Amino acid sequence: MDDKLMLMIPGPTPVPEQALLALAKHPIGHRSKEFEGTIAEVTENLKWLHQTQHDVVMLAGSGTAAMEAAIINFLSAGDRVVVGCNGKFGDRWAEVAEAYNLNVERITAEWGQPLDPEQFREKLEADTNKDIKAAIVTHSETSTGVLNDLETINRHVKAHGKALILVDAVTSLGALSVPMDEWGIDAIASGSQKGYMVPPGLGFVAVGPKAWEAYKTATLPKYYLDLAKYKKATDKSSSPFTPPINLIFALQATLQMMRREGLDAIFARHARQMEATRAAVRALGLKLFAPDDAAALSITAVESSDAEQIRAIVKKQFDISLAGGQNQLKGKVFRIGHLGFVSDRDILTAISAIEVALREIGAENFAPGAGVAAAAKVFAES
Ligand SMILES: *Cc1c(COP(=O)(O)O)cnc(C)c1O
Repeated sequence: MDDKLMLMIPGPTPVPEQALLALAKHPIGHRSKEFEGTIAEVTENLKWLHQTQHDVVMLAGSGTAAMEAAIINFLSAGDRVVVGCNGKFGDRWAEVAEAYNLNVERITAEWGQPLDPEQFREKLEADTNKDIKAAIVTHSETSTGVLNDLETINRHVKAHGKALILVDAVTSLGALSVPMDEWGIDAIASGSQKGYMVPPGLGFVAVGPKAWEAYKTATLPKYYLDLAKYKKATDKSSSPFTPPINLIFALQATLQMMRREGLDAIFARHARQMEATRAAVRALGLKLFAPDDAAALSITAVESSDAEQIRAIVKKQFDISLAGGQNQLKGKVFRIGHLGFVSDRDILTAISAIEVALREIGAENFAPGAGVAAAAKVFAES
């Protein structure tokens, strides 16, 4: 049967019908009054999502373009930066920074474990000359399903006083609170195919005043990703280059949906689905890769040497896409995405499909229906 694909991966995430219909609209001129109205509305709603009064700009590019923009706009070659690395995306920050000849110092944790904020504190406190120009952190590490303690790390960066904090919030924004202004985050990178519920193609960079201050002295070459161009245009409800107009129509629709649901309800839904998924995984006798106190709200990584077989059965028999492991985790974990346009019903469906797959490969260490029962209990009680 065609057309019943269910995406349970941490990006691209499922796209609601309002957004799909917006994508099918005829494009309009990006310098038209009508499109100015769209940019103005979308920009206001992006600020709402980031809980900021400062700037949020849109780029034609994936989340990595937004990360790269944050590096090249606020930093210079040779700058000393501290990068948190406990998964593929933390490593990516370090690789981007090194590609531009920044002086990268990694703070690492084993994949599956959160970064230790104390290591940031020690490094930042030891820097009495105030050489460190930025701390760079992945909030929700999609490759492992680990949530890093951004709030505490940020506190240590604030105590340093000089360093910027640049954050990858690609799979945390829209799943849990990332209060940019309250915490004083200097720049946040994200991408449309995650919590925004829009297909891939848009990157977002939120920029605070301290980052704009750093922009003035940052010397790396830039043109298409020069964020000042985007700010100047966005302030006039415009864009510096031809934007992906239909993606922005889709974004307009999903941000309206998000506003109707409300931030607290969105965060509660993600928390509930994370709890239900984790309860189900345990009930099925499987091991969770991330610890309970550092579990990402948008993605659950499950340890299993049968990961690829389980994924193949779930795909073939139920047309549900689960994500595999990345890099050294390939074949060792599978990942259940519960980010964006995901309902409680989707969780129950995915869990029952996983249970069938486990039965088919001979697992007998759980009672029939144990996974769904555990998830249902969480849903009934929350
Ligand atoms: C998806 C993702 C990105 C961006 O990846 P792109 O493929 O460039 O959109 C960055 N960081 C995290 C944590 C992600 O999950």
